Amino acid sequence: MVFPPLREELQGLEPYGAPQVSLERAPVQLNTNENPYGPSPACADDVAASVRAAATTLNRYPDREHVELRAALAAYLSRDTEPTRGFAIDPAQVWAANGSNEVMLQLLQAFGGPGRRALSFAPTYSMYPEYARDTATEWVQGRREDDFTLDLDAARALVLEQQPTVVLLPSPNNPTGTALAPEAVGVLCEAAASYEPGGLVVIDEAYGEFRRAGTPSALELLPEHRNLVVTRTMSKAFALAGARLGYLAADPAICDAIRVVRLPYHLSAVTQAVALAALRHAPELLGKVDDLRAERDRTVASLRAKGLTVADSDANFVLFGRFADRHATWEQLLERGVLVRETGPEGWLRVSVGTPEEMMAFDAALDEVLAHEP
Ligand code: PMP
Repeated sequence: MVFPPLREELQGLEPYGAPQVSLERAPVQLNTNENPYGPSPACADDVAASVRAAATTLNRYPDREHVELRAALAAYLSRDTEPTRGFAIDPAQVWAANGSNEVMLQLLQAFGGPGRRALSFAPTYSMYPEYARDTATEWVQGRREDDFTLDLDAARALVLEQQPTVVLLPSPNNPTGTALAPEAVGVLCEAAASYEPGGLVVIDEAYGEFRRAGTPSALELLPEHRNLVVTRTMSKAFALAGARLGYLAADPAICDAIRVVRLPYHLSAVTQAVALAALRHAPELLGKVDDLRAERDRTVASLRAKGLTVADSDANFVLFGRFADRHATWEQLLERGVLVRETGPEGWLRVSVGTPEEMMAFDAALDEVLAHEP
């Protein structure tokens, strides 16, 4: 007997997750694309008061449909569609869960499954194949070009050939930082609507708020494509990774379908209260996004000035390389107290954008490491 009697395809697998290193060993933590700026005391007070109020109701189950939160998230998203396209996102188009990871897992539970395919283009977010595996969905992976953009004709052809029920496309992409070309969303949505039973195109905008000017959000295209799903998270730009709140905007029929697979009361009253409080402080929490964008652009320029190859980034992280032995470079940075991420194609490393002080420490450590390169 095999103990425990784990599913065969899970045997011997390691759980997903970046290496966690103590703050003593790595005071400069630039490995998980977190926002380096924590909530202000005023915001923390509001969160605490909201949790205090929710605490008196904890004998009851929370609002299963998280109606108030969906309305607040819809109002927030409408800031991306009303000024440019003149339409608002309706609360019935919004669905939230514990991080956008859970949102996407629910999408695969509802729209993937045995006999169905999910498709993405590598290099991309390494959790996607895990959602597929966990929901017994067949995983198909196309390739990105050498500069990490998508060859749209080839991507369209692959969608038509494989006929996936879910296409997962981050924009900006992780780990490369590459935003999708604006025309990509429409082309892929049309392709995925052209076969039976059709596919959803999920544009994962976890890092959407960091995109450079001139790159529109896929939210703008929701009225044109009913198979389009846009996912977002409060973990990055909102500086709320610890609260675990992700969400999507899509046709209300898609939200309704997810309600069939979600666990009852999946969003705790505490999570809902924290997210609502944070949304009331949106201007403050998002206030650092411009600073982080500027710091990102400075980081790209300074890495290029060192003679390194650097991917263009619309996110709050930068992929750089190429190192003959990236693990050695990663370790030498760690020896100098700087933790980055060993991810992406062979030879590349990824650094999250931190405070100016953290980026100076990263810069100095990298200079030392490069000076010792053979
Ligand atoms: N999508 C992408 C592309 C990500 O990089 C991440 C987190 N690293 C997520 C989704 C999930 O984030 P969360 O569950 O915190 O919302």
